[in-house]
Amino acid sequence: MSTASIAHPFIAHQQSELAGLRAAGLFKTERVITTPQGAMVRTGDGRDVVNLCANNYLGLSSHPKVIEAAHEALRTHGYGMSSVRFICGTQDLHKTLEQRIAHFVGCEDAILYAAAFDANGGLFEPLLGEQDAVISDALNHASIIDGIRLCKAQRWRYEHNNMADLERCLQEAKAKGARFTMVFTDGVFSMDGTIAQLDAMRELCDRYDALLAVDECHASGFMGKTGRGTHEHRNVFGKIDIVTGTFGKALGGASGGFTAARREVVELLRQRSRPYLFSNTLMPAIAGASIAVLDLLEASTALRDKLEDNTRFFRQAISAAGFDIKAGEHPIVPIMVYDAVKAQQLAARLLELGVYVVGFFFPVVPNGQARIRVQMSAVHERHHLEAAVAAFAQAGRELGLVK
Ligand SMILES: *Cc1c(COP(=O)(O)O)cnc(C)c1O
Repeated sequence: MSTASIAHPFIAHQQSELAGLRAAGLFKTERVITTPQGAMVRTGDGRDVVNLCANNYLGLSSHPKVIEAAHEALRTHGYGMSSVRFICGTQDLHKTLEQRIAHFVGCEDAILYAAAFDANGGLFEPLLGEQDAVISDALNHASIIDGIRLCKAQRWRYEHNNMADLERCLQEAKAKGARFTMVFTDGVFSMDGTIAQLDAMRELCDRYDALLAVDECHASGFMGKTGRGTHEHRNVFGKIDIVTGTFGKALGGASGGFTAARREVVELLRQRSRPYLFSNTLMPAIAGASIAVLDLLEASTALRDKLEDNTRFFRQAISAAGFDIKAGEHPIVPIMVYDAVKAQQLAARLLELGVYVVGFFFPVVPNGQARIRVQMSAVHERHHLEAAVAAFAQAGRELGLVK
């Protein structure tokens, strides 16, 4: 009996797993949108809604200059490469983008990957062996956790954002005689918008002679006065040993990832990093458009300034409407509902009122910490944000969440 038969026990097992997810309220669905990414998007049922849940922080996903650069690269460099980088998959565009992103994040050199998930997945195994130690924040991204699993280094995990606990790990790794120690953190944590204390971390790492590596997926392009990232925000630009990041969020939002570091580190990754060696080259149009993104961001801080302004406005206005938010400065604004069912009801009602948001609840966030996570964008105009706050206030009153 093959699995084409619905009666195969393997398929029956999947059916019962799926039923379990549905019964636990953990089943995820995908909402179809039929327009480009923007301040407003059209849903599959033909309604135009304000979009507050994209990682389109700078509005570059549909920026005319970025689209034009992608068209231009398609015309000049073709659609696909049909090769990994080291066979016949390296164009001038890829080399240029590597130099440009390295410079942008304050490192010597950079290597491109199909995704940041691959950059993190392929980082640890080539660089660290069993004599080494890796120390990771408890809330680090799944791709970091997976990447660490693939290497033989001894592992420590410190309580989220807790510098005293990080120091405990550094002491333990030293006591165990680790040859090299790497501390790895998200620059910005996506569920809370928490900004890692990279200045304090740099000091600690220096004291224990440890390397500091940071995933900048929710930071590159807009954190810091010129948008270079969390290290600029925390005044340690140019002092991070390894920076990983994505082109799939603020930097155009298509796809692609990178690791930036000292030249020798990048060179070794080109020799040994498995997702780089055994996976196809980034599409030329993405490389060309990503270069145009960096042109835009290096020429002007207008987009990150507008994002900062929108964030300040929305955080103030949603608090004034009576909602409890996680304090902070990041364009991720967690609006706390605490109760998972209420969070889902609030998201559903907001969609009826023309605002697209998503509720997050256990196991994505701790039990009893359900929330709506909204994300600001430079494409939002004041009227979008005012309409969103008004809808939140109305839906919140209906559900008894605010007065
Ligand atoms: C989104 C994200 C990733 C994955 O990025 P992709 O390029 O989409 O694979 C990795 N790390 C963090 C912290 C992220 O937020």
